[in-house]
Amino acid sequence: MKFRKILYLLIMIGFIYGGYRYINYKNSTTYKLKDVGYSNEEIKIIDEKLDNSKVDHLLQSEYNNKVAQMINAKYFIEDKLEAYLNYQKENSEHSTDDVISIVNAGADKDFYTDVKKADTSKGYLILVNKFYELDKNFTFDDIVPISLQHAYSGRSIRKEVLDKFIDMWQDAQKLDLSLIVSSGYRDYNLQESLYTDYSNIYGQEEADTFSARPGYSEHQTGLALDIAAYGSSIDDFEKTKEYEWLKDNAHHYGFILRYPINKTHITGYDFEPWHYRYVGKEVAKEIYELDITFDEYYELFIK
Ligand SMILES: [Zn+2]
Repeated sequence: MKFRKILYLLIMIGFIYGGYRYINYKNSTTYKLKDVGYSNEEIKIIDEKLDNSKVDHLLQSEYNNKVAQMINAKYFIEDKLEAYLNYQKENSEHSTDDVISIVNAGADKDFYTDVKKADTSKGYLILVNKFYELDKNFTFDDIVPISLQHAYSGRSIRKEVLDKFIDMWQDAQKLDLSLIVSSGYRDYNLQESLYTDYSNIYGQEEADTFSARPGYSEHQTGLALDIAAYGSSIDDFEKTKEYEWLKDNAHHYGFILRYPINKTHITGYDFEPWHYRYVGKEVAKEIYELDITFDEYYELFIK
């Protein structure tokens, strides 16, 4: 009799313990994530890298097969998870990496909305784009003229930029490549007249793909140069050996290709093989190697 009583007791304990474990499991994140549709592999990534409040957000949303991929992406920022998911939902044509770049660069908003003042204290690393504007009267005080040997008539740029451009120009010259500055510093009024002309010809929507609205042009910083091969226009630059050399060497002199191909959704501009921006050697090298836009680099590492 005694033995049967003990056995009965043990079975009861086992049953209660099993029930307890089952209830615990049902309350666990793992069970809930599984219930939403996540696989064991995905849950492992989510568990390791997301804090509870973000996991709660996932539990309240539909299953998303890009979540794990997002979390593992190079520039994933946990606090932006909801923004990534929202943007991806509306723009499913973009890859996960693109979604992350766009959101990180702040370009998940419409261009020219929620605009802020550019931070002029950043010096050579100032960001001016479709979300950061310069005052009408803003100009750096070290703008100098560029000689006719290096530029078309009447061009000017900041002193340091000119010095570095001339270094680059000389090295290019040794390789039989002739560079010429087609456009350098442009003040607010000049940009306004250019943009107005383009808008009148092409309409505003089209003009916005290649011309900055006044106050939003990098040329107003005196840090941007449009570079052509001598004797030809910037429109032909992509086909020249000068471009072939410049795109892979400009960073040695502190310049970056500012509006690269296939980055329009981040920069807001079509590919501009001729437009180079001075950021200094160190940052130029990093941006070249990381292969990211300055807009994203600024938000990640400078701001
Ligand atoms: Zn330009």
